Amino acid sequence: MYGYAGKVLHVDLTAGSLRVEEPAEAFYRTYLGGSALGLHYLLRHTPPGADPLGPENTLTFAVSAFTGAPISGQSRCSVVARSPLTDGVGSSEAGGFFPAELKFAGFDAVVVHGSSARPVYLWIKDGQYELRDASHLWGKTTTEVDRLLAEELGEPRLQVAQAGPAGEKRVRFAAVMNMANRANGRGGLGAVMGAKGLKAVAVRASKKGLSMADPEALRRIMKTSQPNVVGDGDIEDLGRHGTAGIVESQDATGGLPTRNWRSGSMGEERAAAISGTALFQEYLRGAAAGTQMKDGRDTCYSCAVRCKRVVEGEWAGRVLLPASGGPEYETIAVFGSYCDVADLGAIVYANQLCNEHGVDTISAGATMAFAVECFEEGLITTADTGGLSLRWGDGEAMVAMLERTLRREGFGDVLAEGSFRAAERIGRGAERFVMTAKKQEAPAHMPQVKVSLGLVYAVNPYGADHQSSEHDPYYEADLLEKSPHKYGKRMTDMGLTDPQPEDALNEAKAYYALRTQCAYQAMNAAGACQFVFGPAWQLMGMEELAAAIAAVTGWEFDLEELLTIGARTLNLQRAYNAVEGFTREHDTLPRRFFDEPLQGGASNGKALAEEDWRAAREAYYRLAGWDPATGNPTRATLESLGLGWVAQRLPG
Ligand code: SF4
Repeated sequence: MYGYAGKVLHVDLTAGSLRVEEPAEAFYRTYLGGSALGLHYLLRHTPPGADPLGPENTLTFAVSAFTGAPISGQSRCSVVARSPLTDGVGSSEAGGFFPAELKFAGFDAVVVHGSSARPVYLWIKDGQYELRDASHLWGKTTTEVDRLLAEELGEPRLQVAQAGPAGEKRVRFAAVMNMANRANGRGGLGAVMGAKGLKAVAVRASKKGLSMADPEALRRIMKTSQPNVVGDGDIEDLGRHGTAGIVESQDATGGLPTRNWRSGSMGEERAAAISGTALFQEYLRGAAAGTQMKDGRDTCYSCAVRCKRVVEGEWAGRVLLPASGGPEYETIAVFGSYCDVADLGAIVYANQLCNEHGVDTISAGATMAFAVECFEEGLITTADTGGLSLRWGDGEAMVAMLERTLRREGFGDVLAEGSFRAAERIGRGAERFVMTAKKQEAPAHMPQVKVSLGLVYAVNPYGADHQSSEHDPYYEADLLEKSPHKYGKRMTDMGLTDPQPEDALNEAKAYYALRTQCAYQAMNAAGACQFVFGPAWQLMGMEELAAAIAAVTGWEFDLEELLTIGARTLNLQRAYNAVEGFTREHDTLPRRFFDEPLQGGASNGKALAEEDWRAAREAYYRLAGWDPATGNPTRATLESLGLGWVAQRLPG
């Protein structure tokens, strides 16, 4: 078998025992890897009703067929478990060097069962593995743990995935961190890891490299796409400014969520103050010497795009650590525009706090915005917040509240539950200000402007997420005509031949949402970076991803098989939720999207049309082959995807 390590390590923390499974090639071809592999183990090993923070939850780290191959965008690791934030399926991806190192060290996945009475870490090197005491690491921040483990193991190039102090404290939006700045962020999976007493998974391989069926074919794919890194405006800007490069364009289109989603614009000047350009000029490492392009960009294993940021400097007397990376677009938006904060230093520092303590920046920042609105509207006072005046635009107060949240101090203990549960604790109508789907805070792309995201935020099995489908502007006829060789071809490859205006939410758009959702789920199973591969603007299309997998594995593997794996992954997630009692009643959105037209900017007056949204949701269930009465996969659909064993677990 090519590409794979061929081994899955099962760790029983309760018993302190470890065993290796060697799955057959047919198993790998069914699930491919990444999220789908994790979902398989979640459904197989987690009993219905398991406490997400209890020993029965199954936590899987999984890579995929081409992880570690010499091509951009392949070093991703999925983490899967029942989510303590949504109570449904939790599935989240991160890049860096950890994923490739895990494969080189001998494993495609690590499946963690049970929980340990004392803190432990898992040490894997060159196919050998053991659990070790981690008492001395408990309570330490992510950069401290990276340093201590590298020293202790005598491995300066060690790769570590870990639960930060917030995961230990079971903050419901805690992340699993690697490189101290790459996060499996969404869904609170760091809290699952912390609750199991598993502080870290440390991996090291003496030798790099994969056995590949056709390395020459892989080289050809990379060679054809490589010129795009410098010749394609989309990719060049991603490399130069990171994802932060879109702050200003989002504001200009009225799509930058502002003051907890009351508006889609914080104004040109204030958006410019927190933009990717400002980050590049003021905080990127080497800014003072004018050498940002050399020093201020970071990458994942073997990726030519190099979109990650490295900052340095100072904000309000605090040192900004290069090891904490730099903020992505979403992070800038949630701590910036959501809270109406135009102080970029405060945002960079908030990002650092999140990475040091190990939390999802999106849920963290959005929860701060929720708290500010509660304060501004008089639902909470300084008596609740321990003396902090939470005002729009006050970066110092926002950072102070975030610090207390990460430590679960005072009112921070309430906010550490996430905005949905915090509103239940606050009462007094606070739920009006909760901007979540399935209890997960909405990311910074607005359904009032990109309407199909309203559908996807609602139906997505793990809650509101912007990396689960392609966005509306990429299906506009003008774009496809202007760019027949890139956008036009990629949509046609996907069978998407009925382009729609950005603001249309109809059956064709529902199909676009579902089909691209399957593409994104396929990428999660393939362990592919969604900035390098994808159906629209990315460096390479979905055809190239299927070809890369074929080159590595030697399988006759095409795009349709890849998209079927995406559909299988989506149905596994939805089936898991069905077992846990989820139905279409959970496929909802915050009322603000429908009832409160946006104020100011280019989207002034816009709201999501509820009737269109409801009709699109019905069309989506039908197109997905799900029961319209429950919104859950039918037995026939599951069986058609080779998931008969899952169908047997469905309720009713
Ligand atoms: S595009 Fe960015 S996130 Fe994706 S693999 Fe490359 S460096 Fe990592």
